Amino acid sequence: VAEQREIADSTHTVAILSTGDEVVEGRTVDTNASYIADRVAQLGYDVVCKLVVGDFPDRLEWAWKTALAQADVVISTGGLGPTTDDLTNETLARVAGVDLVLDEAEVAKIRGFFARVGRPMPENNVRQAMLPAGSEVVPNNLGTAPGYRLAIPTDTRRPVGVVLPGVPREMRAMLEETVLPWLAARLGPARAVVSRTFQTFGMGESAIDEAVAGLVPPEEARLAFRAAFPQVAVRVSAHGTREEAERRVKLYGDKIAARLGSVIYAEGSTTMEACVGELLRERGKTLATAESCTGGMVGNRLTNVPGSSTYYIGGVVAYSNKLKEKLLGVSRTTLSMFGAVSEETAREMAIGARRVTGADIAVATTGIAGPDGGTPDKPVGTVAVALAADGYGEDGAKSKIYQLWGNREWVKVLTSQVALDWVRRALLGLNPLESGFGQKKGKR
Ligand code: ATP
Ligand code: MG
Repeated sequence: VAEQREIADSTHTVAILSTGDEVVEGRTVDTNASYIADRVAQLGYDVVCKLVVGDFPDRLEWAWKTALAQADVVISTGGLGPTTDDLTNETLARVAGVDLVLDEAEVAKIRGFFARVGRPMPENNVRQAMLPAGSEVVPNNLGTAPGYRLAIPTDTRRPVGVVLPGVPREMRAMLEETVLPWLAARLGPARAVVSRTFQTFGMGESAIDEAVAGLVPPEEARLAFRAAFPQVAVRVSAHGTREEAERRVKLYGDKIAARLGSVIYAEGSTTMEACVGELLRERGKTLATAESCTGGMVGNRLTNVPGSSTYYIGGVVAYSNKLKEKLLGVSRTTLSMFGAVSEETAREMAIGARRVTGADIAVATTGIAGPDGGTPDKPVGTVAVALAADGYGEDGAKSKIYQLWGNREWVKVLTSQVALDWVRRALLGLNPLESGFGQKKGKR
C-alpha cells in the first residue's frame, strides 16, 4: 500500500504515447518511445508505461485518458501533420475540454517556411497551427508542425501533456532543446539518478546474478542486467539527492567490481576491442591475428577502433589448409594428424603469425562455424583459440578448445570475443585460459 501511495503522489512519473497506424501495425519501429524513455529516465523520471495506438479518435482519446491517469507528464509523438489522419490536436482539445485556437505566430512561421522553399502553402497546413487553448508552444525549428505543452488539470492532480511530431529528427531536437530542460527544472535538485555500468565477458547472465546475489540491498540501489550478445552489462543505479545517489552507486559499484573481478573488462560503454586497443597502447605492445573460422572478424573489430594502426600490425585470414601452411608455416603433419580445428594447428597459426609479422602478441582462431562440417569428435561449434607471446608455453603459445553453440554468425562473433579477451587477459598478466564460456574440452 505504501509503495502504491508513493507512486500516486510522486511528481516524477512519465507516460509515453506513440500514435500512428504505421507504428501500431509494426511498419515503423517505435524508436521515438525508446529514445524518450531513455532520456527522461536518465533525468530521474519514472517511466510508468508506453502506449501505442492508431489514428482513430476513440482510441486516441482512450490512450490520452489512460496515460494522464497514470503519470504526471505524458509525452506523445505523431499525428501533428496537416493530413486528415493527424488527430492529436483535436483529441487533446477534447480531452482537456478546451477549444482549438489559431496560433497566429505559428501560422506566420509556417507561411515563412513555405516562402523560403518557394512553394505555395496548402491551406490545410493552417490546421497545424490550430492548438488547444492554453498551450505553450514547443518550437520546431526543423519542420512545420509546432509542438506544445498543455496542463490538463483534474480535481486532484495537474498532469501535463507534451505533444511532439512523429518525425524522429524533429522530435529529438525539440525534446533536447525544450522539453528536457523543462523536465529537469520541474524535477528540482532533490532527485537525481546516478548509475555505473560494467561490461563483462565470460560469465552468463544467470551466473553473474548468482555471483552478485545479496550484494546490493534493493532499497539502496537497483541492479540491472543487459545481455547484448556476446557480453553482459551489469548496471547499478540509485536515486535520491545527487550526493546520496552518487555515494550509494560508488559503494555498491565497487562491491560488484570486486566480486566479479576480471570478468569485468570495462566500465561504461566501452567495447572489448576498444579495451584491448587501450591496453596495447598503454603497454606499447603490438598485435597480429591469424584467423580461420572468424574470417577476419577479429581484425575487423580491432580496426573499428580509431588509431588501431599504432598497435595492430595486421593479420592473415588463412581459411584453407594450404594457406595455413604457406603463409603461417603450419606443418602438414600437424594438419593431417590433428586436423585444421585443433589446439596444435591453432598454436602453430599463432606462432607463425608472430614470426611473420614480428608482433609482440599473436592470436589465432580455427573452428567449425557450421551448419555443416561437424563430426562426432568435433561437432559444430568446436573452436580452438591460441595465443603466442613471450614466455608462453614450451613452444611460445597457449591454446584451448571450446565447445561453443548457436548458428554460424553466433559462433564467429563468440570466437572473436574469446580471442580478444585472450589478448586482454594476456596484457593484464592474467591467464587467458580462464576466458570465455562454453564447455572447455582441454587446455595446454
Ligand atoms: P507529419 O507532419 O510528417 O505527418 P506527424 O507528427 O503527423 O508528422 P506522423 O505522420 O505520425 O507524424 O509520422 C511522421 C514520420 O515519423 C513517419 O515517417 C513515421 O514513420 C515517423 N514516426 C512516427 N512515429 C514514430 C515513432 N513512434 N517512432 C519512429 N518513427 C516514427
Ligand atoms: Mg502525419
